[in-house]
Amino acid sequence: MAVTDPVQNLQTLIRCPSVTPKEGGALSALTAMLEPLGFSVERVTATEPGTPDIENLYARLGSSGPHLMFAGHTDVVPVGDEASWTHPPFSADIANGEMFGRGAVDMKGGIACFVAAVARHIEAHGAPKGSISFLITGDEEGPAINGTVKLLEWAAAKGERWDACLVGEPTNPDQLGDMIKIGRRGSISGFVTVHGVQGHVAYPHLADNPIRAVTAMTKALMSPPLDAGTAEFPPTNLEVTSIDTGNSATNVIPAKASFAFNVRFNDTWTADSIQAELIRRLNQAANDQELRAGRPAIRYDITWSERPSHVFLTRDDALISSLSKAVEAKTGRRPVLSTTGGTSDARFIKDYCPVVEFGLVGQTMHMVDERVAVADLEKLTEIYAHFIEQWFENAKA
Ligand SMILES: [Zn+2]
Repeated sequence: MAVTDPVQNLQTLIRCPSVTPKEGGALSALTAMLEPLGFSVERVTATEPGTPDIENLYARLGSSGPHLMFAGHTDVVPVGDEASWTHPPFSADIANGEMFGRGAVDMKGGIACFVAAVARHIEAHGAPKGSISFLITGDEEGPAINGTVKLLEWAAAKGERWDACLVGEPTNPDQLGDMIKIGRRGSISGFVTVHGVQGHVAYPHLADNPIRAVTAMTKALMSPPLDAGTAEFPPTNLEVTSIDTGNSATNVIPAKASFAFNVRFNDTWTADSIQAELIRRLNQAANDQELRAGRPAIRYDITWSERPSHVFLTRDDALISSLSKAVEAKTGRRPVLSTTGGTSDARFIKDYCPVVEFGLVGQTMHMVDERVAVADLEKLTEIYAHFIEQWFENAKA
């Protein structure tokens, strides 16, 4: 099979039903593409009590530096209502210039194109003057415990070092060439329980309604704004995601109420400093005498999501400009350098080397009828091939 063709590569990958945590044949198919190109491929199964075992893959071509890593995932989200798909979700059918299938853009398409780009690079220039590796997980769309984190630890422990990484997640909102991601906001969730005193609504002086406290505390979290944004990041934003009492009686003041929130924070903060600020705001509201009218301070507990996602910003000019120039050369469009959107595995990779993200157009990811324009596959392959050339040029200089 000619792995220089991203369309064939992607059809092969989509036809492997690798819904997290199943490998589905996807890593074996990728192995079959990489080994003939000269990569030494290792399959790494990660385990953790209470989570499914996950198969991952690490492949390297070359033994010297500079060393460029391509990172991604072959697992996909569930198909949803299969009957609603115009073409079956693992068919990789092509119709009207689009290939249909779960993972087409998120992100088997990115992998298919990078494989094709490497194959073309080797065909045109021979083996790269340095090393290229693939770090591919089967656990990006799941709990992400047995995926990229463990694979990086495993590779680093055996001496692997990287100079730069490209993550092939779909980064373009509308058209190929829109956007490169050069950082991500941090994310942390909090869960608050407020303790009041249950009672009859007609005798509120005998009770202590925790919902009054919830109102004040959620307001304190959201205003005043946490910051106004930075040069590279939008303003930090906190959303209350749930408020709950479990109370169905309209004549009862409930004994407790709870709420949850998530904050997406920029580089004004660290995970620690944003937590400290939010606690300060909650305490201020809890002690607000005007609200409490002589009662003691609100009693509340807070727990946090186990692992916060840390904010990061990549400042490797050579890496960013190699990619940016490749995108511009092949699309005629200058990509926006962005830090918007959700978290990705780049948040783990940034602890090992500078990382940027560029892939397909993300519009249909996780949806019924996920699909990719066939023309975009060829275009992204050309961008990746140009980037590889540029990056090795710049890295050796
Ligand atoms: Zn993805």
